[in-house]
Amino acid sequence: MSASRKRPYPLAGLGASNAPTVITVPETSLTIGGTGIAIIAGPCSVESYGMLSQTATAVRASGAAFLRGGAFKPRTSPYTFSGLGVDALEMLATVRAETGMPVVTEVIDTRLVDTVAMYADILQIGARNMHNYALLSEVGRTRKPILLKRGFAATIAELVMAAEHIMTQGNMDVILCERGIRSFDTETRNTFDVAAIPVLKRETHLPVIVDPSHAAGRTDIVAALSNAAVAAGADGLIVEVHPRPPEALSDADQSLSLTEFDALMRGLAPFVQAAGRHLVAPAPLPVTPHTEPAS
Ligand code: PEP
Ligand code: MN
Repeated sequence: MSASRKRPYPLAGLGASNAPTVITVPETSLTIGGTGIAIIAGPCSVESYGMLSQTATAVRASGAAFLRGGAFKPRTSPYTFSGLGVDALEMLATVRAETGMPVVTEVIDTRLVDTVAMYADILQIGARNMHNYALLSEVGRTRKPILLKRGFAATIAELVMAAEHIMTQGNMDVILCERGIRSFDTETRNTFDVAAIPVLKRETHLPVIVDPSHAAGRTDIVAALSNAAVAAGADGLIVEVHPRPPEALSDADQSLSLTEFDALMRGLAPFVQAAGRHLVAPAPLPVTPHTEPAS
């Protein structure tokens, strides 16, 4: 991927003429890329309307503009919680209507792309599916932005090539996500490849965000990895937050409590400022229709 070599990804590659891509999430005024830092936060899995709504309200108050929540979960073990499916999509849509937060949720199967795209504002392709070319093509035919996670054994070039698969189908709105890769170390769930951020920013014009939660696999270093991500030039973060982390049905060990997330956001502010950036502000709360009491 040296600068002198012709890049094998004509659509994702940073050409002499293209400026960094700024994605405006459809039907919103919120952007990902450019000078803003987009903060996406929420539970690993949507477990109920109550926990989703509580989490969304809290993370929005702390400064997150986007809500994450898994409805269909790709689980390593087939015996663990695999998500509430369409019921969770309905809950995400309800909480979006209440908070104005665009929702990010994962699609794991080509047969589900149309359904998930009906509800989600941004479709997530998970690490396990980065090499699923049929799925990449299918989401490439939608008009929703795609949050593409790096596979845990994928090179940076393979991640960009996966983006290229999406873009060849006509969807140019791809957000790249570094979420840690497998290494020999056992202190963290994955190894956060901080170098991937500036490399991707040099090689491509696409927004690059970081998932410090799946990189860390433990709560106590999520804030430090978030600060490092912003310092290295990331355009955003996707962070797992749960109102009662010990009770989380997936990724309990890495899910921040509402107060821990608030502390992360406060600690992040000087790094955002030092990088000459600003946080993407949450959309205003939707106005709820006022009904006159019957006289
Ligand atoms: C997730 O976001 O909850 C997830 C499953 O992430 P990844 O695909 O990076 O493992
Ligand atoms: Mn998770």
